[in-house]
Amino acid sequence: MKRREIFAGNWKMYTTLSEALALIEGIIKGLGDIANREIVVFPPAVHAREVVKACGNKIAVGLQNMYFEKEGAFTGEISPLMVKDVGARFILIGHSERRHVFGETDEMINRKIHAALDVGLEPMVCVGELISEREAGNSEKVVETQLKAALAGVARDQMNKVVIAYEPVWAIGTGKVATPEIAESMHQSIRNVLKALYGAEIATTVPVLYGGSVKPENIKGLFSQENIDGVLVGGASLTAKSFLDIIHVQ
Ligand code: PEP
Repeated sequence: MKRREIFAGNWKMYTTLSEALALIEGIIKGLGDIANREIVVFPPAVHAREVVKACGNKIAVGLQNMYFEKEGAFTGEISPLMVKDVGARFILIGHSERRHVFGETDEMINRKIHAALDVGLEPMVCVGELISEREAGNSEKVVETQLKAALAGVARDQMNKVVIAYEPVWAIGTGKVATPEIAESMHQSIRNVLKALYGAEIATTVPVLYGGSVKPENIKGLFSQENIDGVLVGGASLTAKSFLDIIHVQ
C-alpha cells in the first residue's frame, strides 16, 4: 500500500524573518528530485505570508497553532480563517509543547481540529506519551485516548485531510530518539485505533509521521519501517543541510 510521504519541519519559536527566508532559500536550492515526497514547514506565524511566497509550489506551509473560535475578543490568538488567509495549508494541532507548556486539553485540541477542517485546513495532529506513562506501560493507552478525543466527531470523509504525528514527549528536543521498533509498534497501534474508528481503508491511508529528535543519522532506520510515512522534525529542520539530508533519505 503506497501512502503519502511527508517530511515536515517545525521551526518552533526560532528565526527572524531574514533567517526564515534564508532557510527556505537553502532548502529550495538543495531540494532536487524528491519524487512524490511532500515537504511542509511550520514557521513562526508572523513570517507566514513571506514564507508562503518564498515556498512557491515546492513546499507547503503550515502554522504551529491557532484558536478554535472564528473571531472575537481573544487577544493574542489567531483564527482558523486567518491561518487560511495567509496561505497556509496545514495547521499543527496538539503539539506536546502546546499540551504541556500551555496546558491545552484534549477537548481544546478536538475543537481546533473541527475548526481547522471547517475552513479547509489540513490538521497535523500530534499525540504522544510522557516518559512516566511509558515507564508505567501505558503508552498505547495514552495515545489511544488522545487520538479518540482528538478525532471525536470527525467524519470519515474528513479523514483524507488529517495527518497524525506520533511524538513521544520524552523524545522531543532531548536527543533521545525512539528506536525504529518502538516507533513502528506505536504506529501500528495508531492504525489499529484508526481502524476501530473508521475502518481498514482509512487506517491504511492516513499518513502517520514520527517526531522526536529526528536527525540525518537516525532517519534511515525510522523511515524504513512499514508504518512510518515521514517525519515531523524540530531542531534538525532549522538548518537547510540537516533538513535536506533527512528529506533525501533512501
Ligand atoms: C518537534 O518540535 O515536533 C520535534 C519533534 O522536535 P525535535 O525534532 O527537536 O525533537
